[in-house]
Amino acid sequence: MSGLTKKAVYADKLLSSILGVREGDFVSYADISRGLHRYIKDNKLKGGGAIQLPKQPTVQAVQGEIEAAVESGMKSCIDCGAQIPSEATFCDMCGVSQ
Ligand SMILES: [Zn+2]
Repeated sequence: MSGLTKKAVYADKLLSSILGVREGDFVSYADISRGLHRYIKDNKLKGGGAIQLPKQPTVQAVQGEIEAAVESGMKSCIDCGAQIPSEATFCDMCGVSQ
C-alpha cells in the first residue's frame, strides 16, 4: 500500500466538512487532494479569492493566552520577591514558606 492511498489522516471538523466525510473518519492524502480540488471547484474559488477557512487560533494568540495564564497564576515571594506559582507553598528561589 503506498503512502498516498493509505488512510492515515484523521479528519477533524474542518477537514471532514471540506471532504464531505464524517468527523473522525480516516482519509488518505489522495482523498484530501481530491477533496480540496473538488471543494475549490464547487465553491468557485479557483482563480478568484482565497479559500475561506474558519478562523483558527494563531500561534501568537495561543502564546498570548498561555503567557496571560502563566502571569495570572504567579505571585511574588513574600521574602525575595521572585515570581513563583500562586499555589506554591514554598518559594522556589529562597525556600521561604508562603
Ligand atoms: Zn523567595
